[in-house]
Amino acid sequence: MHHKARRRFGQNFLTDESVLYGIVHSLGLRVDDALVEIGPGKGALTRLIYEKLPNFWAIEIDRDLVPLLRGGYPGVEVVEADVLKYDFSDLFLRSEKQWRIIGNLPYNISTPLLDLLLIHRGRIKDMHFMLQKEVVDRLCAPPGTKSRGRLSIMMQYLCDIEKLMDVAPQSFTPAPKVNSAFVRLSPKHDILPLQDEQLFKKVVRVAFNQRRKTLRNALKSYLTELPDSGLNLNARPEELSVEDYVALSNQLSDAGVH
Ligand code: SAM
Repeated sequence: MHHKARRRFGQNFLTDESVLYGIVHSLGLRVDDALVEIGPGKGALTRLIYEKLPNFWAIEIDRDLVPLLRGGYPGVEVVEADVLKYDFSDLFLRSEKQWRIIGNLPYNISTPLLDLLLIHRGRIKDMHFMLQKEVVDRLCAPPGTKSRGRLSIMMQYLCDIEKLMDVAPQSFTPAPKVNSAFVRLSPKHDILPLQDEQLFKKVVRVAFNQRRKTLRNALKSYLTELPDSGLNLNARPEELSVEDYVALSNQLSDAGVH
């Protein structure tokens, strides 16, 4: 069946076989994995996953592609839905295992989707996504690098993150305008305890809103409550580790800041 790629669904189909094999290899699939693929499209990844996994789930918004997928992969339960409106708690009832999630995602839904999935992180073993390279670089950015920002801290607080490969635009049809990268996010099971999660988010946001200032200046109004944090407050916000932000926000919370 001929299918014209729909721009509004962010359809850039992966056509580079070596990238496809590289991706599926990196998943280290086991025959009994509980897995859901988001945006299977014309089945480029679905086909290779199906060779290793006879049963899994897929969520696809494009109703023209759904029958094609259902016909081609009878063991795959294809749900026709907008993943951003999809009830994952319902899906996660289908298996008690820790779930694996994979998708070559349309880039405009990547951040809301990550927010949505992280609500369910206790049920998730890992997530593998193809994203815009710039977003992956921000997700992974270590302390002291230019790409480090609010997203790096918030995501690294919750997940171990590993970039697996860069992928060039020519690997897709049609080719996207931006570079891509494939990333693994594994929710941590031992996240550092926070006294006040909202305060942590606020401290990180305020620090990076003024990223050219030192922490001391960016957080001036909070720090009056905290004469000595033991942290280097003359550092720039990107220089602090996730542990530093947790320690800082916990100390502020102890000092009565909300
Ligand atoms: N996985 C295929 C591949 O690698 O060739 C397709 C990738 S394409 C970048 C993104 C896919 O996600 C498309 O099939 C598109 O229809 C689907 N999609 C877009 N928005 C979606 C949404 N909100 N919910 C579910 N699927 C969506």
